[in-house]
Amino acid sequence: MSFIEPDIDFIKHLKKDCGSALTTCMQCGNCTAVCDLSPKNNPFPRKEMIWASWGLKEKLLGDPDIWLCHQCGDCSATCPRDIRPGDVIASIRNYCYQHYARPRFVGKIMQKPAFLPLIIGFPVLVISVILLLAGTLKIPEGPVMYSKFFPHGLLNISFLLLVLASFSGFVIGLKQYWENLKHSATVTKPDGTLLPGFFSVLYTILTHKDFRTCTANRYRFWAHFMVFWGFVLLLAVTFYAILATLFFEYPMGFWNPVKILGNIAGLFLLLGCSIMIWQRIIDKEMRANSNYSDWLFIISLSLLTVSGLIVEIARFQNWSYAYHLYFVHLVLVWMVIMYIPYTKFAHFLYRTLAMTYSKYLGRI
Ligand code: SF4
Ligand code: SF4
Repeated sequence: MSFIEPDIDFIKHLKKDCGSALTTCMQCGNCTAVCDLSPKNNPFPRKEMIWASWGLKEKLLGDPDIWLCHQCGDCSATCPRDIRPGDVIASIRNYCYQHYARPRFVGKIMQKPAFLPLIIGFPVLVISVILLLAGTLKIPEGPVMYSKFFPHGLLNISFLLLVLASFSGFVIGLKQYWENLKHSATVTKPDGTLLPGFFSVLYTILTHKDFRTCTANRYRFWAHFMVFWGFVLLLAVTFYAILATLFFEYPMGFWNPVKILGNIAGLFLLLGCSIMIWQRIIDKEMRANSNYSDWLFIISLSLLTVSGLIVEIARFQNWSYAYHLYFVHLVLVWMVIMYIPYTKFAHFLYRTLAMTYSKYLGRI
C-alpha cells in the first residue's frame, strides 16, 4: 500500500497564489474536456488540480503538462466553481523556477518583493566595479560615444561571462528537470525520435500555433507573438552589434538596416508588453491572479526596451545625461539576462523540453 505524502509548504505556496481554487474543485473534468491543448492520453488540467490540492509536489514538478498549458483561460469559462485552472498551473510553473534554479536561493529571492533593491543593486554594483577598474566611471567629454564610457571589448567580455555564469546553473536545473520528466512518464514506449520531435515543436513555437487555439483570450496570441519575436530579433541585432564592434563599423547610423530592424523589434516588443500590462489592469480576475513574478518579468522587459530606445535617441541628440541613461539601460539589460533562469522568462526552455518530450512520447 502506498500513501500520499502532501508537501505542506507547496500547498501554502499555491494557496497564496490561487486562494480557495485548490479546495473548491469538484473534479468534474469540464476544464479537461474543453482544453484544446490537452492530449488524449492522460489529459490535463483536471489531474493537475487534484495533485495540486493534495500537495503532490514531486508529481507536478516532473509533469510535462504544466508546460503544455498556455494559460489561455478557455477552461475558466466553463468551470462550474469559477476556478481558473490555468492560473493554478501557472503558479505551479512559478514554483518550478525556484525549484530547479541553481543556486536555489536566487530563485527564492526573485519571488519576494522585499529583495527587489538587492536584485537591482547587484548589477549596479557589478557594472560600477567593472567601470571603476577600467577607469571609465566618469562622464566623457565631447560627442556622445558610449564606448568611451564602457569600452566595447570590456562590455562584450563581461556580458559573455555574465551569460555563461547565469546559464551554467540553468543547465544543471534543466538536466534535473529532464530526468524528472523521464521518471514521471506514463507512456514508456516512445512514438517518435527526439530530433524530428524537437523540430516540429520548434515550428509550433515559432508560429505560435498553440496560442491560436485560445478563444477566451485571443489577445494572448498577439501579445506573446510580439514579445517573442521582438525579443528574438533584438537578440539577433545585439549579436550582430557585438560582431560589428569587432569587424565592421560601429556604432551604426540611424538608417543602417540592422539598426532599423532593431528599432522595429523594440517597438514590437514594447507593444506586446503594453498589451500584457493593459490586460492585467483592465481584467479584474487577471489582475488578482497576476503575481509579483509576472509583474517583474513584464515590467523589467518593458523598461529595458524603453530605455534602449531612449539611449539611442540620447546618442543621436547628444543629450548631456546620455551616459546616465546608458548606465540605467545596462543595469536593466544585465538584470533581465542575469535573472532569466529564475524568472518567468525561463519558461521558453522548460516548455520546449516538455513539448519535445511529449512529442517524443506521441502524446501531442
Ligand atoms: S472545471 Fe473546475 S471544478 Fe471542474 S475539474 Fe476543472 S477546475 Fe475542477
Ligand atoms: S488555460 Fe487553456 S491551455 Fe491551460 S488548461 Fe485551461 S484551456 Fe487548457
